[in-house]
Amino acid sequence: MNFKLTKQQQMVKLAAERFAREVCAPIAAEIDREHRHPQETFDLLYKYGFVALGFPEEYGGAGVDRIAQVIVVEEIAKVCMATASILSIHQATATCINNYGTKEQKDKYLRKLIAEGVMVAFALTEPNAGSDASNIQTTAVEDGDCYVLNGTKCFTSGAGIAGVYVILALTDPKQKIRGITAFIVDADTPGFRIGKIEEKMGICAAQTGELILDNVRVPKENILGKLNGGFKLALASIDVSRITVIGAQSLGLAEGALQLAIDYANKRIQFGAPISEQQGLQWYFAEMATRVEATKWLVYNGAQMMQDGEKYSKNAAMVKLFSSETARMVTERALQIHGGYGFMKDYPLERMYRDAKITEIYEGTNEIQKTVIARSVLG
Ligand SMILES: Cc1cc2nc3c(=O)[nH]c(=O)nc-3n(C[C@H](O)[C@H](O)[C@H](O)COP(=O)(O)OP(=O)(O)OC[C@H]3O[C@@H](n4cnc5c(N)ncnc54)[C@H](O)[C@@H]3O)c2cc1C
Repeated sequence: MNFKLTKQQQMVKLAAERFAREVCAPIAAEIDREHRHPQETFDLLYKYGFVALGFPEEYGGAGVDRIAQVIVVEEIAKVCMATASILSIHQATATCINNYGTKEQKDKYLRKLIAEGVMVAFALTEPNAGSDASNIQTTAVEDGDCYVLNGTKCFTSGAGIAGVYVILALTDPKQKIRGITAFIVDADTPGFRIGKIEEKMGICAAQTGELILDNVRVPKENILGKLNGGFKLALASIDVSRITVIGAQSLGLAEGALQLAIDYANKRIQFGAPISEQQGLQWYFAEMATRVEATKWLVYNGAQMMQDGEKYSKNAAMVKLFSSETARMVTERALQIHGGYGFMKDYPLERMYRDAKITEIYEGTNEIQKTVIARSVLG
């Protein structure tokens, strides 16, 4: 067992830390306030090869290193959770295409997604199918060499930003979860359009919205994975996301908030001394730091299990549950340590506190994670 970063991972960490500080941090408050997708950041993330981390070189990737992929998201989440969210969801969906795509699909799509600036989004959730994703109602009906998709997807991260969508639809409604198929859909396909863009509490710069599918003809060669095998594919993809999206984001967000609280508490003088000298706050710091450390090893271990091809569904649910609770708890405490200033938009804690909440909801709520873990440990 060796939890030390390799030389290469250390280099990635240094580069990502610098990128986060110089590119993401200066605009984090502004893109949150304006609810603006930071395209300029993504142009640079592609240019410097950060998006390519975790993907095979033959499709323009920088080699499959899950820890390095996690490190980049973690470093960015320390300063801008919305940017980390967009990046990590994009990478997780591209991973789905890498894991399940045919050689032709990877040649056509993967290179674009990891090296040429085209974003991808994953659309499973519908108005009546959230935690119960098996209840989707979007249909895909065979017609010649195509399937014709009809329905509405909601809460899709990257809606309107992505050029490509992985969409889950019913190909055999009678078979329920055994009748769901994943399709790769180009955003410019006739009949595909973006509906309502959501106004959110947090990660405001990460656009979330509705997809409307009105007789969208998708060629059969765009079926991702097996016909009627989409539900399994979706669950496996969500397992990936629980580590590389939620775990990495939550860890970075908590680490960033903890550091801000340390800096503030060492400087802020009340009762003639830095507030960090108050035992009441020191205990907060001890609890926050311990939780962050535990989260880190859970996340990195989960990423390593993925890398090694082990079974990791239970661990992915544990990562998601624990890391998101850490993000919420640490941002809340860090805000409290900032007192009234923490409540003001002049300080980043207010945004970080709002951003933390989503980690307990998306990629399966924490109640669902507990169900997955309990089923696994109880057998
Ligand atoms: C900002 C944002 C981005 C998102 N991005 C995407 C995306 O890119 N792609 C995508 O497909 N989806 C996305 N989602 C959807 C997200 O995954 C769902 O919102 C989430 O799975 C919960 O579904 P729901 O909102 O319908 O809540 P519901 O399923 O209606 O749950 C409501 C409450 O009931 C609880 N509950 C439900 N069932 C159970 C149970 N069996 N046991 C115990 N408690 C239960 C839940 O935990 C929750 O507290 C996103 C959501 C948000 C808010």
